[in-house]
Amino acid sequence: MTSRTTIPLIDERRAARSPSTALTLSPLLPLLPATGLLGDQLGRPLHDLRISVTDRCNFRCSYCMPKEVFNKDYPYLPHAALLSFEEITRLAGVFARHGVRKIRLTGGEPLLRKNLEQLVAQLAALQSVDGQPLDLTLTTNGSLLARKAQALRDAGLQRVTVSLDGLDDAVFRSMNDVDFPVRDVLTGIEAAQRAGFGPVKVNMVVKRGTNDQQILPMARHFRGTGVVLRFIEYMDVGATNGWRMDEVMPSSEVVARVNAELPLLPLSPSSLGETAARWGYARPDGTHDTAAGEIGVISSVTQAFCHDCNRARLSTEGQLYLCLFASQGHDLRSLLRSGATDAQLASAIAHIWQGRDDRYSELRASMPADSGTGARRVEMSYIGG
Ligand code: SF4
Repeated sequence: MTSRTTIPLIDERRAARSPSTALTLSPLLPLLPATGLLGDQLGRPLHDLRISVTDRCNFRCSYCMPKEVFNKDYPYLPHAALLSFEEITRLAGVFARHGVRKIRLTGGEPLLRKNLEQLVAQLAALQSVDGQPLDLTLTTNGSLLARKAQALRDAGLQRVTVSLDGLDDAVFRSMNDVDFPVRDVLTGIEAAQRAGFGPVKVNMVVKRGTNDQQILPMARHFRGTGVVLRFIEYMDVGATNGWRMDEVMPSSEVVARVNAELPLLPLSPSSLGETAARWGYARPDGTHDTAAGEIGVISSVTQAFCHDCNRARLSTEGQLYLCLFASQGHDLRSLLRSGATDAQLASAIAHIWQGRDDRYSELRASMPADSGTGARRVEMSYIGG
């Protein structure tokens, strides 16, 4: 990780939506049934599905949706292009028959999608292959959470993750770039806790030189509150955030910084394919102080975790992506709207996943700055983080 990698800030209005494979029901392809266990080329099972329900957001975080590109002239998707709640639920049901057990609703900002609790209620009625309810969760910037938390909980949402990049109001306002106050996000987190969501997670993207001085204030603030704070390495997602390697603070440095004041000890993963490495607050005797809680670090740049990545991503207009850093999607919507049966949808998904060999983060360091393919990575705001 020595070379300084610079990705030029581009203004590709359509960069967000990379080309997709038009899926047709080829008679040449055998109809693959949903068996509840679907493995890719690296033997990774399809387990998690992230569903983006909107390409819009009310924040303009520079590492995800820089204002220069995502401005008033940006061609956001028309409503007719979005999958309806019924289409999303139907597809989610097919994915569940392939072994998906966890669904995360994302965006853009998912709470901007009207009546989202209706979709949550539909998804909450789905079951996994062994008849269990799916693990239904959502990632939000928290701006609308205070208003929506109880309704989402009542509809069947089980967990919520809130993005918050600092406690200092000036730092946070500069990072969300729409002058939104920290106070309102904290109020949203409190509302989520009151609504009874299992441990609320808070994600902080750490950008060296921009908000890394907020690492300790955030740890001090959430320690002992039941909230699990996770620090995310700044990533070269999409093609518009001007990512540079020297603005990445490796998670090892984040852990060292917290540990210097609030001693930590490593904890084992709590689930298969978990993206965060867990660190518990330690008692003076070196045991885990469960009342104080834990933090997590998500290290896509310096400690890639592609080896057990079991996540698929569905864009708000029905494109299936197999990696956060993909540049090609697979158009399930056209199949859906062309009258395909569930068996045909299941078969198409099986063929796609079985062909998957994505492991971008593992290969990042060995890739030339410009892969020369001209392929643009899909924007995170389009498929969710
Ligand atoms: S880079 Fe792609 S394959 Fe690797 S963990 Fe992230 S989403 Fe999965």
